[in-house]
Amino acid sequence: MQEFDVVVIGAGPGGYVAAIRAAQLGFKVACVEKASSLGGTCLNVGCIPSKVLLETAHRFHQAKHEFSEHGISVGEVKIDVPTMLGRKANIVGQLTSGIAQLFQANGITRIEGLGKLRANKTVEITAADGKTSTIQAKKGVILAFGSVPVEIPPARTDGKNIVDSTGALAFDRVPEKLGVIGAGVIGLELGSVWQALGSEVVVFEALENFLPMADKQLATEALKIYKKQGLDIKLGAKVQKAENKGQGVEVTVEVAGEKQVYMFDKLLVAVGRKPNTSQDLVEGTAVKIGERGFIEVDEQCRTAEPGVFAIGDCVRGAMLAHKAEEEGVMAAEVIANEHAEVRYDLIPSVIYTAPEVAWVGKTEEELKAAGIAYNKGDFPFAANGRAKAMNTAAGFVKVLTDAQTGEILGSHIIGPCASELLHELVITMNFYGNSEDITLTMHAHPTLAEAVHEAAMAADNRAIHKVNKKR
Ligand code: FAD
Ligand code: AMP
Repeated sequence: MQEFDVVVIGAGPGGYVAAIRAAQLGFKVACVEKASSLGGTCLNVGCIPSKVLLETAHRFHQAKHEFSEHGISVGEVKIDVPTMLGRKANIVGQLTSGIAQLFQANGITRIEGLGKLRANKTVEITAADGKTSTIQAKKGVILAFGSVPVEIPPARTDGKNIVDSTGALAFDRVPEKLGVIGAGVIGLELGSVWQALGSEVVVFEALENFLPMADKQLATEALKIYKKQGLDIKLGAKVQKAENKGQGVEVTVEVAGEKQVYMFDKLLVAVGRKPNTSQDLVEGTAVKIGERGFIEVDEQCRTAEPGVFAIGDCVRGAMLAHKAEEEGVMAAEVIANEHAEVRYDLIPSVIYTAPEVAWVGKTEEELKAAGIAYNKGDFPFAANGRAKAMNTAAGFVKVLTDAQTGEILGSHIIGPCASELLHELVITMNFYGNSEDITLTMHAHPTLAEAVHEAAMAADNRAIHKVNKKR
């Protein structure tokens, strides 16, 4: 039986990062991946392809609706969907083959096949041709099975007109009418791609609250902006039936006890994701799979089976690539007996729409519920010169600080480049820094980052470019 120090199952952002970190730590590493392409959901059908399409959609929208304001005329603006999809495939190909090169450079053995954990840190592999083999991990096994889209009985996907996120990343033309079930991050991002490209988009969300996990002020502003852009978001709208009628999909929705019927060319089901686990993958071991399919782990991602770790979307917590990556690094370091931890309280959340929505740490609602006295500093992009020049002056930066110490407890941004701007605040929070640390840091002018600077100053009632509220 071939022996390795560390065996990783799954080569998504959790698994491939764990494999690279383990190799850096001097281990002999194998990574078992059933797909022919490395990178998992994120690189192949998730984060990356969705951002490629969002970028195209944003540029298309700008060319069509904003260029004229600058005095630029470009004639008729058209979208060639096959070219857009070709660009997406090209970028995905470059990045996934980049992982293969990194594996090679780090001396990681890539094994193609379905991996199953067996007793005593052995891993059974079934290749595409059905042949099985077994390898032994001496130090540790890291399970990074990832996740798959949730299916709901009223709207079973058919891969043609009723699709999941993978299908909505590959429509061969812009649907005239697109229905979306679920106003979560994926539904909003993909809904806004096709809306910006010209679809009439209706998003059905069963809950009455929009983005319940976000700070209320942020969610309210996002809803206002999305609606103004033309995304028809219907809250308290539970989809009960979706039927493919040949030319389109008939969707029956219940809103406030009343039935409504809609017709769409395409329907995207974006009602969440679930762990890609089954008992068969861990049979004969002590690894526990909980009720909702998540593998049970401790704070350092140890399962109940000695030497076996589980990370990323198949364990509790946010289903995000960067969370999976950090857990991958931690698991490899714990196997190497190094001190390692993940700051679970500082996982950044981002919705990559235009404008972007990004946050980290506590919301105002959470601080109120916990009885923590806080100060709020906010600053609108409308008062930021760079945002004005960029024609993206909607939104704001909001910083929540501990009323006693000034420590930043929560940061919330909606506006241009929010995902990038957030990280100044994430770093400060990672060092338990306070708003004064940002106040005392010189920021270049004119930049979007000045809005972060001003929001931090506003928390101490000393913003310069807005009138401070009397406290
Ligand atoms: P995955 O990426 O799902 O990878 C798991 C891998 O394991 C897969 O390659 C699978 O084939 C393989 N595998 C599973 N079981 C076995 C087995 N038994 N044997 C061998 N191989 C196996 N997150 C963000 O942070 N930012 C974003 O912008 C973002 N956008 C997204 C957009 C979309 C449309 C979607 C669907 C997701 C998005 N996500 C985003 C979520 C992100 O993709 C996941 O959180 C991330 O991929 C999780 O990484 P992972 O390694 O845990 O699992
Ligand atoms: P997320 O899990 O963040 O991707 O969001 C998925 C969203 O889909 C949640 O907000 C759910 O409330 C919503 N949802 C689930 N089922 C339905 C349904 N049948 N009709 C409308 N919305 C739904």
